[in-house]
Amino acid sequence: MQWELTFLGTSAGRPTKERNVSAVGLSLEQESGWMLFDCGEGTQRQIMRSGLSSGKLETIFITHLHGDHYYGLPGLLDSRKMDRITKALTIYGPKGIERFLNCVMDTTEKKLGYPLHIIEYETNQEIVFAHFSLKILPLHHSIESHAFYIKEHTVSNRLDEKKLRNAGLPPSPHYGELKKGREVTVEGKVYTPEDYLLDPIKGRSLIIAGDNSKPEILGDHLNNLDLLVHECTYTQEVYDHLPVKILHATARELGMAAQKHGIKNLIATHISPRYRKSGKYTLAMLKEEIETSYRGKLWIAEDFDHYRMDPKDGIVHNTRVPIKGTPTDDVELFD
Ligand SMILES: [Zn+2]
Ligand SMILES: [Zn+2]
Repeated sequence: MQWELTFLGTSAGRPTKERNVSAVGLSLEQESGWMLFDCGEGTQRQIMRSGLSSGKLETIFITHLHGDHYYGLPGLLDSRKMDRITKALTIYGPKGIERFLNCVMDTTEKKLGYPLHIIEYETNQEIVFAHFSLKILPLHHSIESHAFYIKEHTVSNRLDEKKLRNAGLPPSPHYGELKKGREVTVEGKVYTPEDYLLDPIKGRSLIIAGDNSKPEILGDHLNNLDLLVHECTYTQEVYDHLPVKILHATARELGMAAQKHGIKNLIATHISPRYRKSGKYTLAMLKEEIETSYRGKLWIAEDFDHYRMDPKDGIVHNTRVPIKGTPTDDVELFD
């Protein structure tokens, strides 16, 4: 099974010419819809440029209620109405998200034309979906902030169909019985599940974290993690000299936590606008500081970066070039 991550916004606090504010899309190979994690202002336009289909967006998870993580919601909901998308949309967010969205809808037009479900989650709540479970973990920030721990279900009841066919049992309802661990007898021959079940495929795990000044707070959830997507707003020296401290992670702390817990792949995002490709503060400084302690695979996220999580290849990194042309080139307009 393949998972795909598309970074739609990687800047901290406010957008820059190169980076929009927080948003990342997650698509699962076996599902037609996709999920969005955070929705900073302008995310809907980033979606258009990314190649993701806004009509197939099914679920949005918001980490916390700082504007750079959710001010894109009203516009996105409105455009969905104008595009006459009828697919239901579910938004999971912390306490207060419902009041915010109701206020927006009360003061504009109420009718969306599609079902909108708003769910205020609780810290440590676990939500089970068809192919994975998602746990809400608390973080350390200036307001309540959360990480999403996503654990793919382990697939344990796969049959070796080739072996069964060779043994004289073609596909039939007996396969269902064997999958349930029950022995079957066909024309006097006994088939035992242990002989025909393949090894389980262990589910992968991934954390998409919101703003957080203490990566270590994620504790045991970091152990054996396949991928951590975490903020990395500052280098340590810049953070130490900030006149007013905002609770964010430094590259140094992130690298230390990632190494301590043996994280295989790390994507650092939510980059302070002061870090650029060249100049006084560079993206290379962030990377080098993480690498002073971290030895796993590391990327500093850019807008429209696209990562494929393949069970065989680990993570394959591709940069997706934004779609050229005006965003409305290929949509039918109804307004
Ligand atoms: Zn932020
Ligand atoms: Zn924040």
